[in-house]
Amino acid sequence: MKLCPTGAIIVRGKSLSKPFGERAFDLESSQKHFHHNIAEKPKVANFEKKTIATVSLAGCFGCHMSMLDIDTDLLDIVELVAFNKSPLTDIKTFTQRCHLGLVEGGCCNDENIETLKNSEMCDILVVMGECAVWGGLPAMRNTIPLGECLEEAYLNSVTSEQGENTVPYHEDLPKILDRVYGCSEIVKVDYTIPGCPPSPNHIWKVVKNLLWGEDFSLLYSEFKYD
Ligand code: SF4
Repeated sequence: MKLCPTGAIIVRGKSLSKPFGERAFDLESSQKHFHHNIAEKPKVANFEKKTIATVSLAGCFGCHMSMLDIDTDLLDIVELVAFNKSPLTDIKTFTQRCHLGLVEGGCCNDENIETLKNSEMCDILVVMGECAVWGGLPAMRNTIPLGECLEEAYLNSVTSEQGENTVPYHEDLPKILDRVYGCSEIVKVDYTIPGCPPSPNHIWKVVKNLLWGEDFSLLYSEFKYD
């Protein structure tokens, strides 16, 4: 095969002198850059701190990492929001109804489905990242029958013991679904944030817009994905 399977390099062995995807409008955004401190208190009368939950399903945790990638602003974010159920707080179950829920990852097993359905404890449900929106990378298995996936992973992979003939099964293990589902196939989703992962500014601007009606304006660089 002479072509790179990922499409990042068109012809094997030959790289492009300029980064692939660079175009005139990449260099100059039509939107003016303005200073936006993502952790600044929204300028609304009667500011009220809100409660949010974050959930990680079938994904790589990259969307959560992106959400945290706001450096020291993170220290100020806690003045705006309290985290309830979240891998960030290690609170496993909702202890109250939340104003907003952010979901990373799609559903690949029955535990994901249950967790996602519990997220209806949030007034506004936002899914972030391609895995949550339509299944993303884990959904690559959707073109292969589940039985073949399990055989390849547990019986025939390079790390399998010779003569291995058992696919792990225990009542405590989550049951794998026939395919990977995007969140909106399981529950009603209010908003989606595309990207793999979405930029931290994109995520927090969406949160501030939905919770306090703060003006929403994204720079081109904040939602450019190629
Ligand atoms: S969308 Fe990308 S970054 Fe987010 S969980 Fe999926 S693979 Fe990871």
